[in-house]
Amino acid sequence: MANLSEFNQWLQKGLGRAVLHLRTHDPAPYREAVLYACTHDLTYDAQCEGDREIYLLDLINCVADQDFFRNGFLEALRTPPKDPERFDLGRIVEMARNFAEKGDDEMKQAMYRAVADAGFEPEPIYYEDLIKLDGLPALVIAAEHVPSDMPEDDLWQVNSLVTALQDRDGVEAANDAIRRAEQESPRLAQMLERSRLYESRFEPGEIQKHLDYVALKKMIAEKPGAMFYAGWGRTATEEELRAAASDLILEKDESRLLAYLRIFWFQPFPGPIAPVLKLAESDNVRLARFSVKVLSQLTNPAIRELGLRLLDSAGRNGDGVELLANNYKPGDFQLMETLLGEPMQVDDLHSFEIGVRHLASAHHSPEAERSLTLLYENGPCSLCRCGVVEELIALGCFPDWMREECRYDSYTETRKLVQ
Ligand SMILES: [Zn+2]
Repeated sequence: MANLSEFNQWLQKGLGRAVLHLRTHDPAPYREAVLYACTHDLTYDAQCEGDREIYLLDLINCVADQDFFRNGFLEALRTPPKDPERFDLGRIVEMARNFAEKGDDEMKQAMYRAVADAGFEPEPIYYEDLIKLDGLPALVIAAEHVPSDMPEDDLWQVNSLVTALQDRDGVEAANDAIRRAEQESPRLAQMLERSRLYESRFEPGEIQKHLDYVALKKMIAEKPGAMFYAGWGRTATEEELRAAASDLILEKDESRLLAYLRIFWFQPFPGPIAPVLKLAESDNVRLARFSVKVLSQLTNPAIRELGLRLLDSAGRNGDGVELLANNYKPGDFQLMETLLGEPMQVDDLHSFEIGVRHLASAHHSPEAERSLTLLYENGPCSLCRCGVVEELIALGCFPDWMREECRYDSYTETRKLVQ
């Protein structure tokens, strides 16, 4: 029988092992831990790892004590959190919705009250669940709660509410219903109008056309922080790339250097690499990272040498392994195994994991098995775990016990891999 701290680690990572354990052991000692996981955010990266609704429902069903969870959710909706840092109203609303859907009116009232009290500002994801539950009326209520001066940067959230309704009722039916409701609710009309204006800026327009290099260079000088330089690089001619490479080498301003480096994220850098190798060791973390991204596409003994050096430097292990992707030699995965046996900060472990995944998928070597298995066990992020599992399957090194756990993994795509 697993001790609580071990069980909590499984929950945190979202391992299917937690579900299997509850199925085969007395679940009572673990029910508080499951309730905590349903009411707090334990994920490493909430934005990337998706919701854990099915996983948490599996756990709740294993505990088989509906009253305990019902009371727990009502209390969580009605009382100030004891652990506000990890308290996750969105998750609670999501879980509570499963009770409300079965006709639990008290739960439904508590959900609406808690969401209204929280205000629209934190995250409209709360309203998404109310929309899943009640459809258009919940969208209208959300509109009443949106501050009319909602900051532009938050307007994308309105779109996610519309998408929630479209997912629930179908795109056409949802759009028809919204059009009708807009006539009734000026607040809804105003909210949607602002959101549409905002979204229209991202539709293909002038900026999507391929600028010639002279215009691009002017843009880098004036707006180095713009995001589209990598996209420009994708469609650039060889001549344009050579011109950009020459200017990169001459550039001294750090923000412009970042813009030039972006151009070569998806295109091989055609200039001499020595200056980029130097930038990869810059104290400016972004400059160093962007340079690694450029170098990682090239093959050169100097890049391998830098990769091996960075592997051994704390905080740069992930960059080190990225540089080996195109500079790999058999036996490299043993270096990864050694590093995975040593303590690492969680963020470093995560970037190292991403690098090892890239290395493994570039070389499909059975040598990667042990590293991937260690990452399955210790990696903090369930999205990366999915990539690890995919690679183990591709290598034919996917043990039955792992397959069984993956059927109950918190990350839906991982479950799909073993269906
Ligand atoms: Zn990840």
